[in-house]
Amino acid sequence: MQTTGQMFSGKKALILGVANERSLAWAIARELHQGGAELAFTFQGDALEKRVRPLAESVQSTIVVPCNVADDAQIENLFSVIREKWGALDYVIHSVAFANREDLEGRFVNTSREGFRTALDISAYSLLAVSRLAEPLMEGRGGSIVTLTYYGAEKVIPNYNVMGVAKAALEASVRYLAYDLGPKKIRVNAISAGPVKTLAAAGIRDFRTMLAAAEEKTPMKETINAEDVGALGAFLCGPGAKRITGTTLYVDSGAHIMA
Ligand code: NAD
Repeated sequence: MQTTGQMFSGKKALILGVANERSLAWAIARELHQGGAELAFTFQGDALEKRVRPLAESVQSTIVVPCNVADDAQIENLFSVIREKWGALDYVIHSVAFANREDLEGRFVNTSREGFRTALDISAYSLLAVSRLAEPLMEGRGGSIVTLTYYGAEKVIPNYNVMGVAKAALEASVRYLAYDLGPKKIRVNAISAGPVKTLAAAGIRDFRTMLAAAEEKTPMKETINAEDVGALGAFLCGPGAKRITGTTLYVDSGAHIMA
């Protein structure tokens, strides 16, 4: 852990996307907790609730709410809980993505209309839906919204397929949201992380090859870990990033500069 002191004392952070202790969202949550922030968590589905509750308890969080981001009613319910319990919000960590397994292998050209819609809805549109409800709670406090993306948004990474298209939409959404929310001093940024072995990553065919290639091709000759993402997530919420918005920051050992 890299955040020290009580940099986030009195701050309230909503964390979407913890599935287990390997989740990138969890790494960011731990950094914010370390800095003194109060945390609220969401989980998707009963199976994950069993994983998320103990993690939330370990950082003294008492707000743990179900939220499938494909369902507007669940997003509204989440924010009504936040409104009631906190009445305000400083940070949102949006660390959610999904595509059907069959769309994360083989030829992109075969992606079905439904598979395309699902990936874009859950992985990109959900950022807008959440930001819209976060905005009034962040008003007058500034605020930071952070999402997670990957280099497959910019260049072709075999098997990443429709998720690359969803991440491109996500990164563009970050820019448009930053423009909309900027006058209220609410910042919106994306972290483009190098590959890390998580539950979501396991859904991508040949992920191990991706990981091995990343190690070999990066200028630093090493892959990253969840803690690296945690540190950048905390930085984007903290005072050092107070004039940084609408951007994608890389934590990938330099992979994105390579031809
Ligand atoms: P993860 O599996 O731990 O997290 C993904 C989360 O998305 C899970 O908590 C899952 O419950 C949630 N989710 C999926 N569909 C949902 C829905 N309909 N409603 C609500 N939540 C839903 O894996 P992770 O690697 O920590 O992924 C987090 C984010 O980081 C994703 O956006 C992913 O694309 C991004 N990312 C991951 C890597 C990597 O290599 N692991 C690299 C770059 C970016």
